[in-house]
Amino acid sequence: MKISIIGIGSVGAAVATAVKNTGLAHEIVLFDRNGVRARAAAEDLGHAAAFSYDVKITAVNTYRAIRGSEIVIIAAGANQRVGETRTDLLNANTAVINDIIPRVMANVDSKNVKLIIVTNPLDVMVMVAQKLSKLPAGRVIGTGTMLDSARLRTILARQLSVSTQSINAYVLGEHGDSSVVNWSSACIGGIDLNTFCKQTKNTLPATTRKTIEHRVHNAAYEIIQGRGATWDGIAGAVADLVRCIANDERRILTVSTVDGVGDKMLAMSLPRIVGNGGVIATLNPKMDATESSALRRSGKIIRKNYDAIK
Ligand code: NAD
Repeated sequence: MKISIIGIGSVGAAVATAVKNTGLAHEIVLFDRNGVRARAAAEDLGHAAAFSYDVKITAVNTYRAIRGSEIVIIAAGANQRVGETRTDLLNANTAVINDIIPRVMANVDSKNVKLIIVTNPLDVMVMVAQKLSKLPAGRVIGTGTMLDSARLRTILARQLSVSTQSINAYVLGEHGDSSVVNWSSACIGGIDLNTFCKQTKNTLPATTRKTIEHRVHNAAYEIIQGRGATWDGIAGAVADLVRCIANDERRILTVSTVDGVGDKMLAMSLPRIVGNGGVIATLNPKMDATESSALRRSGKIIRKNYDAIK
């Protein structure tokens, strides 16, 4: 499979490494408006590939070179500085998506290509990209709250001394400050969270749940404070999404795609079945009244930001 990555900064370079390590791509094409940066990344990654899978990795300075890509990953654009929210990037990164999508679409097979959107503010960028590309909504896929859900599962795994792999727990809504921890649908080894806690003599009182929610919401801010940006977690999420698409795995992932049209058009994360055709179906998880209302609020915030694009 040929996969192209647009934007080879901290995130794009880490994504390239993670995608290479899946062994699923025979060719990875890197494009950045800073050609020197892309060429350096391709060179470094090419050396790393000598120790792993045989994959052709090239940096290119024209969009023509992405022809034949089945997946195009968009990781270009400004990232958050310390103290900035994802929404602060709205207008700058809308301009980036407006620049990139028409060039991508002029060079890919629109009947087959899947776009993976990573650029923040994620959900609004998915809406902009889907509208510009005119692709079916299910083939413009934002990584959404895959990363937030992974953060939640990691915290729960440590708290409850059980493998992350056995935890099904989702963060829904905006990939941003209004995201919603969906406690009601969380289960471990097929057992709902409360029953699991009783059986294993663990407790997760409301105060602990609030602390966990706070840690999920603030994870990116803390990482940016400590290392200037985040890249490893998101690279893991993108590689997992690529694997799910490439192998037609039909796993349930909390990705963000557009639902509705016109005034009702909205992208946010819900558990969705993902396979080779992109998003195949969207599921409505069990939610209590507080979670439902928080999810509606999150959707309103995304839509308000979309409407505020200048
Ligand atoms: P970065 O500044 O390190 O790299 C951005 C790259 O984009 C630069 O190399 C720049 O030259 C390139 N670029 C900018 N405009 C371009 C254009 N029009 N065409 C081609 N290339 C262009 O930033 P980063 O840390 O790699 O972050 C990239 C994006 O990913 C940001 O928007 C960031 O907020 C987002 N991000 C998303 C998640 C997520 O979970 N979705 C996680 C982390 C970061």
